[in-house]
Amino acid sequence: MDFLRPTGWADALAAKAEHPAAVPIAGGTDVMVEINFDQRRPEHLLDLGRVDELTEWETGEEYVRLGAAVPYTRIMERLRPELPGLALAAHTVGSPQIRHRGTVGGNLGAASPAGDCHPALLAAGAEIEAASVRGTRLIPVDEFYTGVKRNALAPDELIRAVRIRRADGPQQFSKVGTRNAMVIALCAFGLALHPATRTVRTGIGSAAPTPVRAHAAEDFLNAALAEGGFWESGRALPPSLAGQFAELCSGACAPIDDVRGSAAYRRHAVGVMARRTLAWTWDEFRGPGRSTEGGASCA
Ligand SMILES: Cc1cc2nc3c(=O)[nH]c(=O)nc-3n(C[C@H](O)[C@H](O)[C@H](O)COP(=O)(O)OP(=O)(O)OC[C@H]3O[C@@H](n4cnc5c(N)ncnc54)[C@H](O)[C@@H]3O)c2cc1C
Repeated sequence: MDFLRPTGWADALAAKAEHPAAVPIAGGTDVMVEINFDQRRPEHLLDLGRVDELTEWETGEEYVRLGAAVPYTRIMERLRPELPGLALAAHTVGSPQIRHRGTVGGNLGAASPAGDCHPALLAAGAEIEAASVRGTRLIPVDEFYTGVKRNALAPDELIRAVRIRRADGPQQFSKVGTRNAMVIALCAFGLALHPATRTVRTGIGSAAPTPVRAHAAEDFLNAALAEGGFWESGRALPPSLAGQFAELCSGACAPIDDVRGSAAYRRHAVGVMARRTLAWTWDEFRGPGRSTEGGASCA
């Protein structure tokens, strides 16, 4: 196995163009597990550890441009106000050691349906900056996941950064697993309120072959919030509205039975997380002292 160690971004792209089958390695928390268990034996490993710009980020008015190799810990410590949903998701990844090494670029590269970044990125709204010696393109996150552990990158492309819409309202992330730490999601749910556009976006993890949005649930809720004047009045959401939203979120799942849980449990849990995250974010949107008691409370 050859170890390619580019010291800059242009060299990394040139190396990937020359060796399209080379496996990029950032934090290595997925790649090294696969190599150690002999699930993968690539001819070339492409180490991105010396490409400094991948660990940088820029905060603009509308977007945060997050370098592909910014570790989870940094997101939790430095980007919580701008990316609250992703920061919450980062909190639930592995252990402190994994969060120090693991990156959003690696989560996207692995494209596991159980990856914790995906629901948060889908809910916030994001684009993946994919680059090669041929140029750079932006892939909307909804189009990035193409199958189980498959993504839309071409063989000669690398992820340079992720452009994530800066939060303009409350965001939440919820994950169900067999214990609280060091657990791969049985299923996960991300929700973002976007008061500026009066829309709500969702993201579901580990309950379909790829991470997905609950489009029908979003359409239903967006229409109901607009018709009822909820954004303007900030009044509590009726339980029936939250219940129907939760049901539609469950309906967006296409889960399987596996060692971590049954399809039926996943569908149910997604509905519960949808109702809870809606209540939490709506309470936050309404402001202190105006909780949805008697409204869309958690069950
Ligand atoms: C003990 C343990 C616990 C874990 N717990 C969780 C968890 O709770 N939640 C969770 O989501 N994940 C978990 N993981 C998986 C892993 O930590 C995450 O997926 C992490 O985000 C991977 O990031 P990385 O930088 O280490 O990726 P790497 O291992 O370096 O790479 C992962 C994949 O992405 C590709 N890649 C990396 N960078 C790029 C790039 N710039 N361009 C293109 N492709 C790229 C690699 O080739 C590889 O296919 C866990 C792993 C371990 C070992």
